[in-house]
Amino acid sequence: MNESVAISRTALAESSQAAGHFDVLIVGAGISGVGAAYHLTTQCPDKRYVMLEVQDTFGGTWATHRYPGIRSDSDLHTFGYRFKPWTGKPIATAAEIKSYMNEVIEENDIGRHIRYRHRIDAARWSSEAKRWTIEATRADTGERLSFTADFLWMCQGYYRHSEGHTPEWPGMAEFKGTIVHPQTWPENLAYQGKKVVVIGSGATAATVIPAIAEDVDHVTMLQRSPTYFIPGRNAIQIAEELRALQVDESWIHEITRRKILFDQANFTRRSFEEPDKVKQELLGGVRAFLGPDFDIDKHFTPSYRPWRQRIAFVPDGDLFRAVRSGKASVVTDEIERFTPNGILLKSGDELEADIIVTATGFNMNVLGDIAFEIDGKPLDFAETVTYRGMMFTGVPNMAWVFGYFRASWTLRADLVGDFVCRLLKHMDAKGAKQVEVKLRPQDSNMPLLPWIDTENFNPNYVMRAMHLLPKRGDKPEWQHNQDYWAEKDEFPAIDLDDKAFAYS
Ligand SMILES: Cc1cc2nc3c(=O)[nH]c(=O)nc-3n(C[C@H](O)[C@H](O)[C@H](O)COP(=O)(O)OP(=O)(O)OC[C@H]3O[C@@H](n4cnc5c(N)ncnc54)[C@H](O)[C@@H]3O)c2cc1C
Repeated sequence: MNESVAISRTALAESSQAAGHFDVLIVGAGISGVGAAYHLTTQCPDKRYVMLEVQDTFGGTWATHRYPGIRSDSDLHTFGYRFKPWTGKPIATAAEIKSYMNEVIEENDIGRHIRYRHRIDAARWSSEAKRWTIEATRADTGERLSFTADFLWMCQGYYRHSEGHTPEWPGMAEFKGTIVHPQTWPENLAYQGKKVVVIGSGATAATVIPAIAEDVDHVTMLQRSPTYFIPGRNAIQIAEELRALQVDESWIHEITRRKILFDQANFTRRSFEEPDKVKQELLGGVRAFLGPDFDIDKHFTPSYRPWRQRIAFVPDGDLFRAVRSGKASVVTDEIERFTPNGILLKSGDELEADIIVTATGFNMNVLGDIAFEIDGKPLDFAETVTYRGMMFTGVPNMAWVFGYFRASWTLRADLVGDFVCRLLKHMDAKGAKQVEVKLRPQDSNMPLLPWIDTENFNPNYVMRAMHLLPKRGDKPEWQHNQDYWAEKDEFPAIDLDDKAFAYS
């Protein structure tokens, strides 16, 4: 390590105030962190834990994003926790999700464990002390605090909350209007009566456009290439029917989850086995809203097979209704440059704009932009191999919650929650202070591959960050396989005495 960095880190550590020792330290108070706290509370009630969150409230994604219409793109029966029934409409607003999370926090007395405005800057593992030292800075006072913990539960999500991803286009500085990234949407942005161009056609664009369409002069969705969408009623029939029969909400939650997951498994399987048929069904859904004369081929027919990128659900087809009404339109073209009055396209057309919204995605951040050290050596995460996408070779006493792309994130947060609690109890039973995953003799010749198989799934934000992510192997133990339906049975059956786990 660079000597001056080492010295300044030591100095920082020395100047930090000791803030206590905990059995478990949870990073982040998003849906994963609050879920982790619930699992600890219910499955390991003797563990003392603390949750550090840089923002001044819980919610993570649902607190950061404040653009008009902000809502989930998957249903809340499966995005909600396994243990707490979701009783509202399946596609929910950020406010509804936060209110649900607030109930989980209050019902389980989690709030007293959360320390807001604490940004974690560094985490150092000592094999001698067999514990982590975590350096945090108070976002409000600048005070530096030093925590120690036996186990680190990383629930920091996967993208940098402070800023979104905006590509550099020529001429941006000349544009006379306002450029906004949805992740940092200004509180009082006056878009009423304005010409707005939204760059991008992912879930965020599909949310913002119908939310502002009525109030703007016109909004254009500008995309380089089309995306798949699933338009449909914002309701789940089986939940409605069970509710009409006055079935208990906990039963409705369980049955509706099973029905959704059954249907999704079927959809995923079909998108591999009969991609053309699935593609036609998806396009048919869009055509039903836009009519036979709309150029679906050009604007809504992606070149990739369905499910290679996340498919956004469009509740009640609101995006397509906005297009149909004439208040919104779609342009499929490439940006040549920004101009003082808008955007010049490669086709030679120019789009006039007062406001340009860059719905161009995230900056993935690996492990919360925290400087990790293992026994004094900086950790390069890309040199590790992942154990089922949640633990990493050479990184003791740590687990990361990384959800699914094709199914709701929280399904995995619950599975990882059960696994971590089982692992902590197993360590206690063995009297072990340290657990680390290690390649076994049978893994010695295993090829080490990038984090995800891009033939299977290839969203841009992951592609941009692949070189920073851990490696995967070619066996189920050494991959994050994105398959809830396999993992729901595999995780509870993980043999904690397998040679992949080294205890000391
Ligand atoms: C607009 C939007 C809509 C989405 N909709 C869906 C959906 O419908 N279904 C779905 O499955 N997924 C969806 N996702 C993906 C979504 O991010 C995850 O499903 C889920 O919310 C992630 O939860 P999390 O708690 O793991 O992480 P996050 O929500 O990202 O929360 C992480 C928390 O950790 C904190 N943190 C990070 N680093 C540090 C640090 N160094 N120190 C202290 N605190 C730190 C952050 O401030 C944040 O509060 C959506 C994402 C976005 C952006």
